[in-house]
Amino acid sequence: MRTLIHICCGPCATETVAHWREAGHDVTGFFYNPNIHPFMEHQRRLTGAEELADNADFELRLDATYDPARWFTEVRPQEADRCRRCIGARMDRAAREAAAAGCDSFTTSLAISPWQDHTAIAEEGQKAAQAFGVAFLYEDLRPRYRASRETAKQTGLYRQKYCGCVLSEWERYRQKSG
Ligand code: SF4
Repeated sequence: MRTLIHICCGPCATETVAHWREAGHDVTGFFYNPNIHPFMEHQRRLTGAEELADNADFELRLDATYDPARWFTEVRPQEADRCRRCIGARMDRAAREAAAAGCDSFTTSLAISPWQDHTAIAEEGQKAAQAFGVAFLYEDLRPRYRASRETAKQTGLYRQKYCGCVLSEWERYRQKSG
């Protein structure tokens, strides 16, 4: 089965790509994350995804569009369910890319993270799959999270400290700032 893997960052993709390959899938990566702020952080994570694609030898498709104004309008980060809309927007774009690339299915490296909303991932992925006529593959890969961090460390991939948006950066550091 040809499967497109939406990649949120290099570290999360390490074990995600390994998992789906072990399950017999022919994988293609896809980086699309306009939720990552600021711009240079976005570029660091994009570079990490490119380095992993080179190291692990898979095709990486890109939509490196950086349009934070549009992201703020669509996701409405001031509202409590911002993460669902943020995940949903990326699942929509990934499903569209999977269909354009001729893949049968798609999934996301977000499913390895213990910090993400897995109910939202599974539901939003399924909705996007139906809209674009491809299958969505969800598996709870959180048991491989620790290994993904080890692999990233050993191979020198950039490891971010917060989810992506400016609110998540503030939530990560606000305790320390007093
Ligand atoms: S915390 Fe992460 S998933 Fe939630 S809105 Fe911000 S970037 Fe998106």
